[in-house]
Amino acid sequence: MSSLSAAISDLSAIDIILDELNEDLGDLPQQVASAEDGFRERTLNIEATENTLKELEHFKSNSHIRLQEIKDKEDILAAQQFNVRNNREFDAITHEIEALRSERTKIFDEQRTVGVKEENLRSMIAEQQSELDEAKELLNDKEHQLSAITLGHNDEILSQRRQRISIISSMPIQAIADYERIRTFHKDSAVKIRKNSCSGCFNAVPPQKIVEMRNKPDQMFLCEHCGRILISE
Ligand SMILES: [Zn+2]
Repeated sequence: MSSLSAAISDLSAIDIILDELNEDLGDLPQQVASAEDGFRERTLNIEATENTLKELEHFKSNSHIRLQEIKDKEDILAAQQFNVRNNREFDAITHEIEALRSERTKIFDEQRTVGVKEENLRSMIAEQQSELDEAKELLNDKEHQLSAITLGHNDEILSQRRQRISIISSMPIQAIADYERIRTFHKDSAVKIRKNSCSGCFNAVPPQKIVEMRNKPDQMFLCEHCGRILISE
């Protein structure tokens, strides 16, 4: 049957190890999350540009069909113009041909703009692709770092937690509460007495207290100066 003092000493050692294991991760989990955000954002950017490009390509192929239709109509109307019976019919066909030519000019103009837009979009996609590659590389890198650390840590963390539970289950509830309270002030909440001094703050521990501690291993003694739990040497 281990004493309260020994239990607290073991508990404190475990908590320090757990702290160190968790500190090793640092802000890596946040870094991974932010790298994921960056990757997702760049994926959406490139998708949006690709969609705009597809719309332009669609317009281009449709406009070719429309241009052919206009050309065919113009040829038919030109042929018809030779066979008209009066000026009214001649003017009507002329008007129709002019309308078709104007539409054709408009499509040509749009096609010229589309070419420039398309070029711009393609260079934008190339730029976005390299940004995406960078984001992907960063994400892989961060995920790799994180998994390298957690892979080694997970088993140890689990084992330390199990030991912690087994120690705590043997301790009085009040002692656990006191320990946890002191731990909010001092990471090393339980410290050994060394050379008759608290090894947390290095202040002297009165000799009568040291004697009393040896006689009462199931009582909790605190350093009068720093408030840490004292463990016999
Ligand atoms: Zn102290």
